Amino acid sequence: MSIADNIRSLKKETTPIKVTLIAVSKTKPADDVQQAYDAGQRLFGENMVQELVEKQEHLPKDIQWHLIGHLQSNKVKYIAPFISMIQSVDSIKLLQEINKHAEKNKRVINCLLQIYIADEETKFGLGFDEAVELLRSDEFAALKNIRIRGLMGIATNTENEKQVKDEYYELKTFFDGIKQSFFRKDDAFDTLSMGMSADYKIAIEEGSTMVRLGSTIFGTRVIKHWKNN
Ligand SMILES: *Cc1c(COP(=O)(O)O)cnc(C)c1O
Repeated sequence: MSIADNIRSLKKETTPIKVTLIAVSKTKPADDVQQAYDAGQRLFGENMVQELVEKQEHLPKDIQWHLIGHLQSNKVKYIAPFISMIQSVDSIKLLQEINKHAEKNKRVINCLLQIYIADEETKFGLGFDEAVELLRSDEFAALKNIRIRGLMGIATNTENEKQVKDEYYELKTFFDGIKQSFFRKDDAFDTLSMGMSADYKIAIEEGSTMVRLGSTIFGTRVIKHWKNN
């Protein structure tokens, strides 16, 4: 199936149930992004700042870019002018830096708090307690140019479906609690980003509102530099 076919069939699957589809184009050439764009896709996810910035420069300006990978504070300035959502916020320091650059650009930047749910040491994110502490802090209350739209999580990379299901269930439960405690009157807190190619059906069953799909759309990734594809 072509990239366009994949986009069309995934849209058919996700649109009626109001799950937002992020096409994860990391390592893939701009040409592939354009094919998905031509099939109607407008939301794309990247995990590296430099790659994101270069693609943004060369591709249609109505694309909404989501950063889904770990973000270093010193790189916020490169994406602040245009980024649609930063899904990988994992500290108050980073949030303060995003706020500063959003203000400079006279914007409000949409953010998700990335929550650590996997049984792996390599995954970034806040623990449940850390997320609550962040949301309770005076430092957070002072930030006027960021908007927390919800939570993002990455499940353990395992064949064990029960484990993945449990991790997504926990995140959904936490999401509902955070909504009640901190965002009850805020309709903008509406996004639970969970689900990748291997596990998005489970994630949707557990209440995901946004899935991030790469290989299902663009084919498997060979680990090489995107410009040399
Ligand atoms: C790469 C990546 C994805 C997409 O992965 P696939 O398995 O190709 O769908 C989703 N989310 C994050 C955070 C990623 O880094």
